[in-house]
Amino acid sequence: MSINESASTHSMPGLPIRTITAYTGSATGNDAVYTEAVRRLAVVLAQRGIGVVYGGGKVGLMGILADSALHVGGTVHGVMPQSLVEGEIAHAGLTTLDVVGDMHQRKNRMAELGDAFVALPGGAGTLEELFETWTWQHLGLHSKPVALYNVNGFWDPLLDLLDHMVEEGFLRENLRHSLIVESEPELLLEALSTWQPLEPKWAS
Ligand code: AMP
Repeated sequence: MSINESASTHSMPGLPIRTITAYTGSATGNDAVYTEAVRRLAVVLAQRGIGVVYGGGKVGLMGILADSALHVGGTVHGVMPQSLVEGEIAHAGLTTLDVVGDMHQRKNRMAELGDAFVALPGGAGTLEELFETWTWQHLGLHSKPVALYNVNGFWDPLLDLLDHMVEEGFLRENLRHSLIVESEPELLLEALSTWQPLEPKWAS
């Protein structure tokens, strides 16, 4: 099933966010600030009863996010293709783990399950997931909020590039600003829950 065929492509503005799909690194990064910030976010999500959907791995910030949420009683739903169960070490203690056929099914399932999407610090895989989700919002294939958790200014170079795209006429300013950017968990959740969908890019 593709995202635009799923029953849950639209979050309802005004309805509470019950699940967040998190994209993040299979590495922890070099600075403990990333681990600490991911722990803080996981605790706030669990305290608010917001379930985490993520890639299902035990490695890197992915594993820290899952462990931290589970540790304080949160709900964590992993989605992993069979081909990565060993490499990314499927987390054995999740509330739910879906093992799917391939990466496309993984992303579709993660997209269906989340009421909102947040990219935490990560690498190329995190970027790929973020950009698919965000650009599909632009195209009107879903209308759920997408955010960057900008820990330690991690995403600032990317934001500079997005601003450059606007200046050079390759990215519409309203689409650029549809991306939520916050560095504190509470502010991030506030922004996600008050976000209003934009008119799709090609709507007449
Ligand atoms: P990384 O940010 O590169 O550490 O990867 C974070 C997560 O993204 C891992 O679970 C990867 O398996 C996943 N990933 C890597 N490439 C892709 C892709 N093309 N589509 C979806 N997920 C990916």
